[in-house]
Amino acid sequence: MKSLGSIRRDFAPWNDPNAKPYIQFDNVTKKFGDFTAVNNLSLTIFEREFFALLGASGCGKSTLLRMLAGFEEPTAGRILLDGQDLRGIPPYRRPVNMMFQSYALFPHMTVENNIAFGLKQDGMPKPEIAARVAEMLRLVKLEQFAKRKPHQLSGGQRQRVALARSVAKRPKVLLLDEPLGALDKKLREETQFELMDLQQNLGLTFVVVTHDQEEAMTMADRIAIIDKGEVMQVATPAEVYEAPGSRFVAGFVGNVNMFEGKIARGEAGVASIDAGNGITIRTENAGNAAAGAAVTFAIRPEKIKVSSTKPAGAVNAIEGEVYDIAYLGDMTVYHVRLDDGQVVRASTMNAARITEDPLSWNDRAWVSFRPDAGVVLTR
Ligand code: ATP
Repeated sequence: MKSLGSIRRDFAPWNDPNAKPYIQFDNVTKKFGDFTAVNNLSLTIFEREFFALLGASGCGKSTLLRMLAGFEEPTAGRILLDGQDLRGIPPYRRPVNMMFQSYALFPHMTVENNIAFGLKQDGMPKPEIAARVAEMLRLVKLEQFAKRKPHQLSGGQRQRVALARSVAKRPKVLLLDEPLGALDKKLREETQFELMDLQQNLGLTFVVVTHDQEEAMTMADRIAIIDKGEVMQVATPAEVYEAPGSRFVAGFVGNVNMFEGKIARGEAGVASIDAGNGITIRTENAGNAAAGAAVTFAIRPEKIKVSSTKPAGAVNAIEGEVYDIAYLGDMTVYHVRLDDGQVVRASTMNAARITEDPLSWNDRAWVSFRPDAGVVLTR
């Protein structure tokens, strides 16, 4: 498979063997009583990276963030920041700030006083505070709301005040726990881009916890997928999507079709998979899977074409029946039931207003895909 790099910007220190990690979780375990929330986990984060911890509720991602902030200590293992072991260093002495899901704004204080609060506590001289607050208000586009109190703001505006407050002290690392959790879908999407701009403009390292895969995919340079306190994969959004390392990751991020089978014949990444019921899948992404190995072939819906006739020259084409069609405006999703009963999901962008090959429920149809369109998973 061709390499899938970061598409966002020319920033990929994880590919540079000489790059020094900025944050290191080194065999970290966290137990609460006899419950293991984080299990011997290691990962590295680079300076100026936008790093996402993605996982289902209860997987341990907030615990990781809290240990980095200093609200919890690891039961075993070390956390290093810029080479320094953080054990025993209290939260307020770490170059790290945390923005909580609830924002925790002071309700009786104006926006500008909320932003200035930490600076005052640090004894920063007044003119400097005023300048910094003005800069922060500009950054989050809230200049005209400086004198308002939190209850006079919308949810999105409150979120921006919290953000301004948490970066006002210029921490080196900002930790964000579900930062957009309280916003509706449209505002979330807008705010995702604002967050990315802010992170780039300030040159900070962001570690964000989210259970929302789209959010992680949109914002992060790299994503760590966490399950039951363990790292399943750390990779760029494109790699996580196009080259998932396991069935778990393939199923967790985006929609996917999976075929269980056995490698019938394989050489240097190219293989035929016997998926049973007369279905043979030819793939160029078999990796090291050896002949006879039990594997899962995973393929994304948008890489599957649906047509009423067998496409000429298709390497992979399987016949079935249209079982369900969902028209979503920008795209149409087809569910095709193969003759062995498996339902395949295929999606087509509606680039033109009129479909050349209209299909309806119960029509016979072919699903086809290229030999480089899916991946072979052995875990
Ligand atoms: P969510 O998205 O729901 O916040 P999470 O992935 O952030 O989930 P954590 O908050 O890290 O999950 O919690 C991981 C596990 O550890 C959960 O099962 C939780 O119940 C448990 N846990 C967290 N904090 C404590 C605590 N102080 N005492 C006991 N158990 C805890």
